[in-house]
Order: sequence, then structure tokens, then C-alpha cells
Amino acid sequence: MTGSEQGARSLEILNEIARAATEGLELGPMLQGVTDLLQQNLDWDHVGFARVDGERGVFVCEAVSSRVPSEVAPGYSREIGSGVVGEVAETAQPVVVEDVRRHPRYVAAAEGIRCEVCLPIVHGGEVVAILNFEHGAPRPLERELPLLEAVARQLAGAVANARLHEEVFRRAQQLELVSDLARAALEAEQLEPVLKRITERLRDRFGFLLACVYLVDPQTSRLRLQAQATRAPIGKPIPEAFSSSRGIIGRAVQLRRAQLVVDVRSDPDYVHLVDSVTSELALPILFQGRTLGVFNFENDRAQAFSGDTVTLLQMITDQIAGVVHLASVNRRLSEMAEELETANRRLHELNRTLEALSTVDSLTGLANRRQFDRMLDLEWRRAIRGGSPLSLLLIDIDFFKRYNDSHGHLRGDAVLAEVANVLAAAFTRAGDLVARYGGEEFAALLPNTTAEAAGELAEIARARVEARGLPHPASDAARVVTVSVGAATTVPDPWRLPPALVERADRALYLAKGAGRNCLRTSA
Ligand code: GH3
Ligand code: MG
Ligand code: MG
Repeated sequence: MTGSEQGARSLEILNEIARAATEGLELGPMLQGVTDLLQQNLDWDHVGFARVDGERGVFVCEAVSSRVPSEVAPGYSREIGSGVVGEVAETAQPVVVEDVRRHPRYVAAAEGIRCEVCLPIVHGGEVVAILNFEHGAPRPLERELPLLEAVARQLAGAVANARLHEEVFRRAQQLELVSDLARAALEAEQLEPVLKRITERLRDRFGFLLACVYLVDPQTSRLRLQAQATRAPIGKPIPEAFSSSRGIIGRAVQLRRAQLVVDVRSDPDYVHLVDSVTSELALPILFQGRTLGVFNFENDRAQAFSGDTVTLLQMITDQIAGVVHLASVNRRLSEMAEELETANRRLHELNRTLEALSTVDSLTGLANRRQFDRMLDLEWRRAIRGGSPLSLLLIDIDFFKRYNDSHGHLRGDAVLAEVANVLAAAFTRAGDLVARYGGEEFAALLPNTTAEAAGELAEIARARVEARGLPHPASDAARVVTVSVGAATTVPDPWRLPPALVERADRALYLAKGAGRNCLRTSA
């Protein structure tokens, strides 16, 4: 080839590479296209492209095109500094090796190689990748170098673009994972199944051997296992409870900081659980300065936790913290609701006990029926002892149903209370008892009172109620609230019982009603 023919060919090759490099945005296929093109068109036995992973201190083969047996394949990786490729990764200077047998750092990865050219692909002042050409026979390397360097420069831009695309794509995926988990967590009603799903998702996504969550028990301050997911059976059960001062987990809780342990064997705090575990990451779940728990991830692979993975897991943990907090608030609320319910039940029981002990009718303030029965019994026995007369008046409001019907139950209640006041004021002698007998019916128990005296008192009480003048237009007896009174008097003796007196008063009351109401009748 003449010089100009060579120049034209070089341009053509550069053009083809530019096309291959911009054809797709995915780095892997794009690079494979480029190494294939270089290997065939420039007639090299072996062309490789390796990415430099500065964080892990290695270079990793991304694409290789070889027509000789070679152990190099995508994923093949060696340390920076190892071999000619490693040397370029380290020094960022191109290396041209005429005879590999005389190069002290040469590592034979492909068979029958004689010469090698290794070029850094530099972006932003950093070696991001290495382009490597190897061949089985001597060739004019110095003359070819300018073209190869032009190729390397051209690739730098393409790699940067593809990386950017990859980065954007990766970020999008990460964001999707974070928002997915956060949504699932917020929508769920129960915390445990959510945490279970999250540990499973993270295990699957990152290939962890073990992912688990412990939450702080507010009562004991111990950590309690809430959820776990393992990639393979791990032999022993994971502890259900954990002292918050133990292990790398405990350290994360105490220090309130993520704990990343790359080699667990060299960490004195590591609590040995699974033989194959080499690395562990413990992330405290913090909410408003409080430690709610801890996420723990363990793995059996070296380099399981890249800076990126840690950042992502930290982000997820921060999102979950709010949900864990909410769940604990909800739990506390439902506990409080339960406590309140128990307290209410107790109060209700207490009220019933108090009521049973009470002697007073709450609406009228008079003695209640229970108290009346007790006093009747007492006065009955006292009258027997003293041989004295005992009188009983039953006093019933007239047409009271009509009053309720036309004025409503509340106003009816007010009338009951008012009539009670009038009656209480009408029987003031020591020993007299006015009680609410039931509904709109009252009783006056008058010890040591003759039938005659009882009749007079009854008439006074009846007249006073009428005189009170509480309007009752629906009453047929008067246009005001009135009462009918039945009176009975007896000298009690041991052969009879108190209810006999009540029956007689009741019969008298019935007569009073029959006589047109608002009047007194006395039992014979
Ligand atoms: P009568 O003149 O024959 O006694 O007629 P009445 O309507 O007063 O008698 P009835 O026995 O037919 O009805 C009694 C009414 O008293 C019915 C009930 O609604 C009312 N009552 C009973 N207890 C209460 C109460 O605590 N509050 C109120 N507002 N009304 C009551
Ligand atoms: Mg009545
Ligand atoms: Mg009645």
C-alpha cells in the first residue's frame, strides 16, 4: 500500500469504528462490535477491551476478539498493576512491546503471542479503560501506533457516552426500586409482611446470602427479628432476639451509623453465624434521632457491597424508617384504644356497682325504690315494736302520658323533678320518707301517723302540686299538672308483711283515678 492508500484505509477504519461506537447505547455489544472490527480489519490475533475499576483496584475485560486460544473473556479480571494491561492501567502511558518474552511484566493470557500494544483510554484525565492488541508474529508497531492511538481517542468519547447512558439507566432502576419498596411499604397495613417482601427483593436484587431486619423492642431495648430472607440454606436459625450491644448489628445501633465490614474475620465484634459469610453491612433505621431498628446484609462474595450498593441500601433504609415509625405509632394507638376500652368497661362495671349501692333517684333526688323498700321494712318492724300506726301514700301524676306526648320526654322529666320538689317540701316531719316509687309515681312513708293525719297531709300535698300550676292543657282533670293520691294506714303486726300496706294504698289510688283524678282516696 502506498502512503496515501494507507491514509485512506486508516480513515475508513476510523469511520467504521465511529459508526460501531455510536450504533447502540449499550456498552457491552458496542465494545464487542469495536474489538471485532479492529481484530479483523487491522489483522491482529487478539484485541481486548478492559474497563478499569478504580474502586476495586482491578481491570475487567468487557469485550475480546481473539483467533488464538485465550483465557480472556468478558468478566476476566486482574489487579491493576498486573501484566502489561495492568501496567497501562496504573501508569496511563501507552506500552509497546516488540517481544513479549523480553518484557518483565508480560502475563500470557493468550497463546503464542509475540508482540503487544496496550493503550490507555482516557476520559476526564482518568484511565477509564485499556485497549489491548496482541499478535503472534513481529509487526511494525511504531508505524501502526498513530492509527491505534487515534482509535483509542475515538473510543474514549464513545465509552463516556455509553457510560453516561448506563449510569442514567442504573440510577433510574435504583430509583424505581426505592420508590417501589416505599410504595409497597406505605400501602401495606401490616409491617411484618412488608419487611419480609423488602428483604426478599433486596436479596434477589443484590444476591445477598442473608438479608434481615431487627427492630428495637421499646420495652426491653433488645432487637427483635422481624423478617429475613436467605439465598441458600444457612444451617443455623438466625437469632430471634439480639442484644443491641452485640455484634456488628449492635455496633450500628450504638453508633447510629452504617457499619460495612469487608472482611468479617478481622472484625472482633463479628458474631459468627454462617461459615461462608465474608462481608456484612448493618444499616441503622433512624427516625428523628431515634434508632428504630437495623437492616443487616451478609454475603459470601468478596466485593459484595460497592459504594453504590451501600448508598442505595441507605436510601431504602431511610425510606423505610418513616414506615416503621408509622407502624409503631399505629401499634401504640391501637394499644391505647384497647386500654381505653378496658378502662371504659371497668368504669361501666363500677357505675353499676355504685348504682346498686345508691339510695337516691338520680332524676328527682328523692329516695329511690330500693331505699323505699328498705325503709318500709325498717319502719314496719319499728312500728310493730312501738305498736304505732304506719301510713303510706301512693301519689301518681295524672294524664302524664299525654304530657310526654305533647311536650316531649325531656320536659316530662322536668315536671317529674318539679313535682318531686313540691312533695319533698310537703312532708318535712322527721322520719317521713318521700321516694320515687317508679315512673311518674311517688310514695310517702309516714311513720307514727294516723289515717286522719295522713289524709290531711295527702290533701295538702295534692293541693300544693295543683297550686304549683305547671301547665298541662291535655289533662282532663285540670289544665295544670295534678296528682291522684291513694292512702292506707295500718298498725303493723308480726303476722302480716309490708306489701299488704302497699296493695291497699294502690287500690285506693285506683279509686282516686276512677273518681276523676286530682283527688285523694283512702283505703278502707
Ligand atoms: P293516669 O292519669 O291514669 O295516671 O295516666 P298516665 O298517662 O299518667 O298513666 P300511664 O301509666 O298510662 O302512663 C304513665 C306515663 O308516665 C307513661 C310514661 O311515659 C311516663 N313516665 C314514666 N316514667 C317517666 C320518666 O321517668 N320520665 C318521663 N318523662 N315520663 C315518664
Ligand atoms: Mg299517671
Ligand atoms: Mg302511673
